[in-house]
Amino acid sequence: MNPIRIKAALTRRHLMGLAAGGLTAGLLPLKGWAEDDDKSSSLSSTAPAALASTGLSGQRVVVAGGGMAGMTAAKYLRLWGGSGVQVTLVEPDAVYTSSIMSNLVLNGSRNVDSLRFKRDALTTQYGVVRKAGQVVAVNASARTVTVSDKSVLAYDRLVLAPGVSFDNAYGLTQADYETRTPHAWRAGAQTTLLRNQVAAMRNGDIFVMTIPKSPYRCPPGPYERACVVADYLKRAKGPNCKVLVLDENLSIQAERHTFELAFSTIHAGVIEYVPGVSHIVINPGTKQVSYVDPVGGTQVVQARVVNPIVPHRASGSVSGGWLAQAGLNNSADGRWANVDVLSYESTAAGAQGIHVIGDAASCGMPKAGHVANQEAKICTDAILRLLAGGQPYARPVANSACYSPITATKASWLTAVYQYDATERKMKIASNGGQTLVNGLPAAATESSSIDGDNFENMSIWFRTLMADTTA
Ligand SMILES: Cc1cc2nc3c(=O)[nH]c(=O)nc-3n(C[C@H](O)[C@H](O)[C@H](O)COP(=O)(O)OP(=O)(O)OC[C@H]3O[C@@H](n4cnc5c(N)ncnc54)[C@H](O)[C@@H]3O)c2cc1C
Repeated sequence: MNPIRIKAALTRRHLMGLAAGGLTAGLLPLKGWAEDDDKSSSLSSTAPAALASTGLSGQRVVVAGGGMAGMTAAKYLRLWGGSGVQVTLVEPDAVYTSSIMSNLVLNGSRNVDSLRFKRDALTTQYGVVRKAGQVVAVNASARTVTVSDKSVLAYDRLVLAPGVSFDNAYGLTQADYETRTPHAWRAGAQTTLLRNQVAAMRNGDIFVMTIPKSPYRCPPGPYERACVVADYLKRAKGPNCKVLVLDENLSIQAERHTFELAFSTIHAGVIEYVPGVSHIVINPGTKQVSYVDPVGGTQVVQARVVNPIVPHRASGSVSGGWLAQAGLNNSADGRWANVDVLSYESTAAGAQGIHVIGDAASCGMPKAGHVANQEAKICTDAILRLLAGGQPYARPVANSACYSPITATKASWLTAVYQYDATERKMKIASNGGQTLVNGLPAAATESSSIDGDNFENMSIWFRTLMADTTA
């Protein structure tokens, strides 16, 4: 059976759909999958969902983290697993604030309130039990987690989806991020602070942003942000502002064609892109930034606004953190959780029954919300099969999709299909020039050939669809 239901006539928007390849995914309609290529977005319903009847009973799954990955897992564990799978979602924040689309707060197109999503439907429609708090310890041998209120939850399977935390870097502290030099790489109060700082710039001022070495959350996101800010500054402040992009990577990390075009034409003279930068030091008081440019040597620049997208890591993976104490940050650099991509089960010693999804995991796919949704579905499918005494589906397929605003009205996009490679035991882009189909979808990574208004419009539809599939 084809694991993904596909309409006969596929449109490009369908190619960016939200199904992920596990057999269970094929048995159920996906609420977020638009039936037509119209602009419909009324995808949520208020009635309790009809949960699958699987015969599973008395199984306990705890999900830690109610972001893009964790909400999707909690919802689909119930929807596909049925009422016999008890799902508890542990999450400290009452409401989810989407980082996706948050760059549009910086040019005033959106505000942070428009990015907030309630998690109520997880309870009312799917019967997920929500627990306010943070997981502070994992006991893998006892199969329990401790929550910040000191309660202890037992699990048969544990799904960790805590997202990322941000290093103290370039001479800055967490307090600097909150008050003076926001990274705004997790949307919320820092996004509003950065918006206010950009809005207060004057013609001739310099905005400096930094990009950490890959892997980082949302590969095209920093370049997209540079474009959005440059566009706003040109229109609102005059022609003489500058956006200086200091990239610790040697080249643009995603949508290279799009961003090279945007930097050299649409935003030429405003954006200056410097790759391969090192030794960044930022004075949060004076906003003076020094760095080493591999071509020009040591440079010092006086910024009006500094936006350091600092290196980040799986939440809890700092030395002494709860993820680190459980030994789950087992990537070579200790920043991420390595997983078996058939099940997202941790590969750390003694971590049987513990799955890690979303940005915290290292799985060969980009750290992105759309991908987190896909990982959650593959993981959910595997967990339900394992709980039923089976094995994970052997040929999972996932896709990534990302839209990038380049101006206040124009955008580009990037999409790729990933399939499990049994030889390398990895999810890999099936890149064969787009000729061969994977479950009916073109296989190669594809970048938009133009930066235009249609893409911008479709971006909103994609976002609403993704968030409805994740939260409603
Ligand atoms: C500016 C920007 C633009 C972006 N644009 C896009 C885009 O266009 N497309 C795209 O696909 N992605 C985009 N992303 C990336 C996307 O936001 C992330 O990849 C996605 O949110 C990752 O999902 P996650 O569930 O792993 O983490 P998150 O969504 O961050 O959720 C993590 C959750 O875990 C909770 N948590 C943390 N610690 C604990 C704990 N100990 N116990 C319990 N809960 C805990 C947190 O409160 C949070 O709710 C963008 C990101 C940024 C910053």
